[in-house]
Amino acid sequence: MNPPWWMEGVSFQCQPDCGRCCDEPGGIVYLAKEDAVRLAEHHSLGVKEWLERDCHTTLDGRFILDSDAETDICIYLDSNKKCSVYDARPDQCRAYPWWIENLASQRTWSKTMDECPGIEAEDAFVIDGQIIRMHVMADRNASRGFRRWNEV
Ligand code: SF4
Repeated sequence: MNPPWWMEGVSFQCQPDCGRCCDEPGGIVYLAKEDAVRLAEHHSLGVKEWLERDCHTTLDGRFILDSDAETDICIYLDSNKKCSVYDARPDQCRAYPWWIENLASQRTWSKTMDECPGIEAEDAFVIDGQIIRMHVMADRNASRGFRRWNEV
């Protein structure tokens, strides 16, 4: 089987003051357990406490991040369109634009290029295929999510 097209590497550099990928109403951020631990720690809260404060569950019980009640945009996007938890942001956010649904075909990738000015930007450099693969797997793991948290 041939390796996927992106294994040769893709030119990308996230653009400062962009925030376009977060600034969409209706986005769903699924969480891996590691995300919950990292974000709870970032807020100096216990995981259970943080889950209760900043998350809710989908119909099938997976934890997802809350959105703003008025804008339906991620609660962590600040008024300057910057991520207020950038260093602790969820794996799914870190993995963008390397989501499997974006990489699936030339058609989906061209749509992603329209949405993300970082792809093939002038200051971009080539992201190695193995790094992209790592992001694809992290996003897949986060999408599976988790439904229960037991404090140890
Ligand atoms: S849309 Fe692309 S360039 Fe803009 S913030 Fe998101 S990843 Fe970065």
